[in-house]
Amino acid sequence: MTIVTRFAPSPTGYLHIGSLRTVLYNYLYAKKNNGKFMLRIEDTDRARYVDGSIENLLQVLASVGLIPDEGPNNPGEKWPYLQSERLEKYQEHIKTLLDTDMAYHCFCSSDRLEELRAEQTGLGLPTRYDGKCRHLSQEEIQEKLSTGWVHTIRLKVPKNKKVVFEDTIRGKIEVDTKDIDDQVLIKSDGFPTYHFAVVIDDYLMWVTDIIRGDEWIPSTPKHILLYEAFGWDKPIFSHVPPLVGADRKKLSKRTGDVSVERFLENGYFPEALLNYISLLGWNPKTTQEIFSLGSLIEVFKLEDVHKSGAVFDTERLDWFNSKYMANYETDTLYNKLITYLKRYDADFATQIESHPKEYNIKILQELKTRIKKLSDYKEFTTFFYGEIQKLDMWLFLNPKMKILSAEDVQDSLEMALSLLSDSSLDLVSLENIKDTFITAISASQKKNGQVLWPVRVALSMEKFSPGALELIYILGREKSIQRIQKVLNDIS
Ligand code: GLU
Repeated sequence: MTIVTRFAPSPTGYLHIGSLRTVLYNYLYAKKNNGKFMLRIEDTDRARYVDGSIENLLQVLASVGLIPDEGPNNPGEKWPYLQSERLEKYQEHIKTLLDTDMAYHCFCSSDRLEELRAEQTGLGLPTRYDGKCRHLSQEEIQEKLSTGWVHTIRLKVPKNKKVVFEDTIRGKIEVDTKDIDDQVLIKSDGFPTYHFAVVIDDYLMWVTDIIRGDEWIPSTPKHILLYEAFGWDKPIFSHVPPLVGADRKKLSKRTGDVSVERFLENGYFPEALLNYISLLGWNPKTTQEIFSLGSLIEVFKLEDVHKSGAVFDTERLDWFNSKYMANYETDTLYNKLITYLKRYDADFATQIESHPKEYNIKILQELKTRIKKLSDYKEFTTFFYGEIQKLDMWLFLNPKMKILSAEDVQDSLEMALSLLSDSSLDLVSLENIKDTFITAISASQKKNGQVLWPVRVALSMEKFSPGALELIYILGREKSIQRIQKVLNDIS
């Protein structure tokens, strides 16, 4: 039997980071078992439908490389993949349940149901349908239907039964049917409810494993009753715990970014994001932390997913991202940077690309161990791509480096200037520049920092930047001389 997993989102907006982890687990489990991962869109709740969310979802999944084997974009034999296009299947199946007395028409008005709920709440009871329409006669039903009476169709939940299932992550779960409501299966507008459509589709689409958020645990017994009513084998259920914030509450907009698109826009690599979230709530049982998607497929085990919520920590994500950043070949990283900028900051991409690639690569080579996200690149490179506009003399002063006055700055800069002006100094390698400067500095009885600190500031005019010699290597002779000269002119 082929393992089939699925992600079945409702198109109500953006893709939440917690849902991405659910997608990932579905994907990993399917791939590990040579199975298929499918995408189905649960769009029967028209009131909650948000325009553009399906396109957005498909695009985000493509960006992170979790491409479904079947779905609206790449249909297979289980077509169609949008529930709104499968309505006749639900009609057909509800008929079977009505014919076998497993479901019934309910003609109760919304006012009555409202009153019932209020009454039950007042008495501190769980709100539940009281079964008024459970035993209407065929004549009563036909009469009401023929006069066009507004109605829903409910599941006739069997009395005195235990619904039992074994959840891969949670273990055995048992619920008494006295605690299960006669669930609406078809709404008054003729559309199926989630509970009905999900079961019909998972069955018709040969889904073998349902991996979803644990907020769906209370729904699962209702689904199992439906499988039983049809006499179908039920799939294996695995309910994964939510991602929580530092406050242990479910991760929500309140605590910061939760949309996957936003993480990508903020300059996180999809592979770092997947690596990090894979480990939230799943224990690979090794000390290894960096996993490619391929290696995750190999080692992932659903049984090793924890029961309790996992804390999402942006600092940890930053750590993973900076590891990926530092480990990429600079050429590969450069392509990623340009692709990222073209998407999110096209003007800056154009600005960068107007410089020789070699120049950009040198900058990136230097920065890749300093920045955490692609979005940091811009902030750290202003002085590489534009001229320095204003001198900030305070930045030069550094008692630790014995730079206490304008004269100290001048001395050091003049020394650097004379070294740079010597055409025999070859700037093609950083090693060469280092050798020349360090030898000259030690011959002058100065400390390295005493010369290099003012040079670094003159070249960057920033509190933090790569070191002076790295800056010279990147900026080249002409620009370095020009910047140092400018400072000398201004302070003399
Ligand atoms: N449509 C449901 C949702 O939006 C799917 C739940 C499930 O996976 O069964 O999350």
